[in-house]
Amino acid sequence: MNKLKLGWIGLGNMGNPMVKNLLDAGFELSVYNRTKDKETELVALGANSARSPQELIATSDVVLTMLSNDAAVQEIFEGNLGLLSNLNSGKLIINMSTVSPETSRYLSTISSKQQIGFLDAPVSGSVKPAQDGALVILVGGSVENYEKAKPIFNVLGKVAIHVGEAGVASSAKLAINYLLGLNLQGLAETVLFAEKSGVRTQDMLTIINEGACGNGITRIKAPSILNNDFPAAFALKHLVKDLRLAKEAGLDSPLIHPLFDNFSKAEEEGFGEEDVMAIINSLRTK
Ligand code: NAP
Repeated sequence: MNKLKLGWIGLGNMGNPMVKNLLDAGFELSVYNRTKDKETELVALGANSARSPQELIATSDVVLTMLSNDAAVQEIFEGNLGLLSNLNSGKLIINMSTVSPETSRYLSTISSKQQIGFLDAPVSGSVKPAQDGALVILVGGSVENYEKAKPIFNVLGKVAIHVGEAGVASSAKLAINYLLGLNLQGLAETVLFAEKSGVRTQDMLTIINEGACGNGITRIKAPSILNNDFPAAFALKHLVKDLRLAKEAGLDSPLIHPLFDNFSKAEEEGFGEEDVMAIINSLRTK
């Protein structure tokens, strides 16, 4: 049994497999999720259920959050029964959700006012790496807290990189997700151009993936393109959020604007709950 007692908030596509890995590794762990039935499977695997973030942090040494967006994270921190609603000095909160650098700095400040440590630790990698404990974890905050969190990061990721103070990891995450968006858009446009020119999709995907242009994204997304089936591993609405945050954080490059417009349009068209690769079906109609 690992000695750190953990609390986990947010049992969506990412939180669920990450918690399973921590339970497998022997951590004592409590969970809280807004929609309570998502806790059931994990309670059956040995997790305790907390009635509120306030109750969760009282029984944990370290609390991890994996929530949709800035608003959700702020609510969990500052709500009536939130993480900061009681005194819990000496504890550590690690936010693994993708939020703005500004929000991360703010959460760090309000946590430290209560003598609670804070790390922003967003992840690169989707559901499969989360299941495999192979995420790339970007960490911002004090080195002392990073060292304290290492036994947790060792279970969740293949690497945890300390990139600077609170907020810097969130900036790095927005940068890598910009590259993700470019990859997805490029893959979709390439496949659609080939399709229109009479090239079979299967052949085009093989050409991409066997050649120098193939990468993790083009390989992972190939089956969903072939089956025209896009169950959310990374919901498209979350990438729209990340591209918006990148723009708000100062990204003003030639491609960010059309990229953001395309993904926003796809969300408006109803693709928001599907996987990011569903961008191909939005573009197909253009
Ligand atoms: P998800 O499946 O949509 O799950 C979101 C979680 O946030 C759920 O537990 C949801 O609770 C909770 N939530 C949302 N609004 C809330 C609120 N106001 N109060 C309390 N809880 C709230 O998202 P995900 O795919 O796991 O992603 C989580 C985070 O990781 C996001 O920031 C995303 O950008 C980032 N990320 C995702 C991936 C990926 O591939 N999926 C990869 C890297 C990073 P309910 O169950 O009640 O709705």
